[in-house]
Amino acid sequence: MFKLRDYQQETVDNIYQSMKQGNRRIIVQQPPRTGKTVIMAEIARKTTDKGNRVMFIIHRKEVLAQAKATFRKQDVNVNLATMGMVQTLTRRVNKLVEPQLILIDEAHHAISNSYRRIINAFPNAYILYFTATPIRTGHDQLDQIADDIIVGKSIKWLTQHHFLAPFHYYGLGDIDRSKLRKQNGDYSSQSMDEAINHQIYGHIIQQYQRLANGKQAVVYCHSIESAKKVSEQFKSIGVRAAEIDGNTEPQVRDRLVQEFRDQKLMILANVNLFTEGVDLPNVDCVIMARPTSSLALYLQFSMRCLNPRRGKTAIIIDHVDNFLNFGLPNNDRDWKQAIVTKDKRKSNSNDDTGPAIAQCNYCFGTFYRTDIHDSCCPLCGHELKTETKDYKIVNVDLQEIKENQAVEHRKKMIQQILNDQVMANVADKSPGQLHTLKELQAYAKLHGYSTGWAWHQFNNRRKKKW
Ligand SMILES: [Zn+2]
Repeated sequence: MFKLRDYQQETVDNIYQSMKQGNRRIIVQQPPRTGKTVIMAEIARKTTDKGNRVMFIIHRKEVLAQAKATFRKQDVNVNLATMGMVQTLTRRVNKLVEPQLILIDEAHHAISNSYRRIINAFPNAYILYFTATPIRTGHDQLDQIADDIIVGKSIKWLTQHHFLAPFHYYGLGDIDRSKLRKQNGDYSSQSMDEAINHQIYGHIIQQYQRLANGKQAVVYCHSIESAKKVSEQFKSIGVRAAEIDGNTEPQVRDRLVQEFRDQKLMILANVNLFTEGVDLPNVDCVIMARPTSSLALYLQFSMRCLNPRRGKTAIIIDHVDNFLNFGLPNNDRDWKQAIVTKDKRKSNSNDDTGPAIAQCNYCFGTFYRTDIHDSCCPLCGHELKTETKDYKIVNVDLQEIKENQAVEHRKKMIQQILNDQVMANVADKSPGQLHTLKELQAYAKLHGYSTGWAWHQFNNRRKKKW
């Protein structure tokens, strides 16, 4: 049996407290990678110990085997448990034995009809909706199917207490966001194709080498073609990489995942596969090459590398500026407000802005303005010049960001780096590491220094040599 961590036990206690107060349908919010399945298994055990039946509903089949194993390990009486995918259970709903408790995983999907059919079939059951992100795109929210919400510890708290690794976040901007179009709650494949700069592949390799060289990384891509290209690019520089997508044979996929776990593979490029559930403990770097307008996906992508280990700092490389939609993964979010269907919200929440996020023009580190000390980048130590603008994230709605000139300025700089090999070579160096006049000029251009600065530096160096 697992011994629950204190914060997990606290969640269990809060759930029973809410039930005692008369709530029957309760949302349980817990951030990704904090042991949701263990909490569900503990509640299932308590239920079957009393001789009551439990039903466990999941959204993706990849997760089922792992959840079953966790339930068995937690001594759930599996004879009293029905566990399955929503599609399967909803088809057989008339034949199912009535449960006293229903546990729904990834419950931000639970408003859909397939879930509602099951929920409505058992009006006397307690229902617990587990999700990291109790929010949907669009008008209708989870308050339509729930009476209460229990909010778990924040990502900041979990990091401070070493349950999640700290991270460094880099926003690279290989994308033209004006081309993105939404379709069924996320960006359409075609619009992602159009928005993503084709030079992203070379840039992914460069930035991995600059920021995360030697670390095991998962790359999130928007299409099979692009995931294959990423994998090929890594192989071409001698890094062991593989690509997995929905069409990969299950045996091949399992083998590749195992090779990654055994650290024989360094890079796994995938299309929407490693979201919930699949256990990849030693990921130290996430590379996002897929824009998303879904907060659930954003947190699943970016937090994939946050399993803690002593001394670890995870690296999140965001080539497609997902942070402009959602801020950083550990932004505080108002989940109690998020579950309220839009026209029922009391105040006009759009004025409630989240913390300002700033970006270093030198390393592209992306961080809270409050983390800046002595005007230096908290990631690389480079002096931040005054023109570094804030990105203001609208917090409560969790969907919008007010972009400003800084975006334009940065896009231009990144384009320059992509177009200019010398500039790419100097991007991660300090002036002391530069030797030729051309390098110094590129550096000056990159940081907005005058051309005179480059000449001055160059002449100084020559004098020193003599
Ligand atoms: Zn920096």
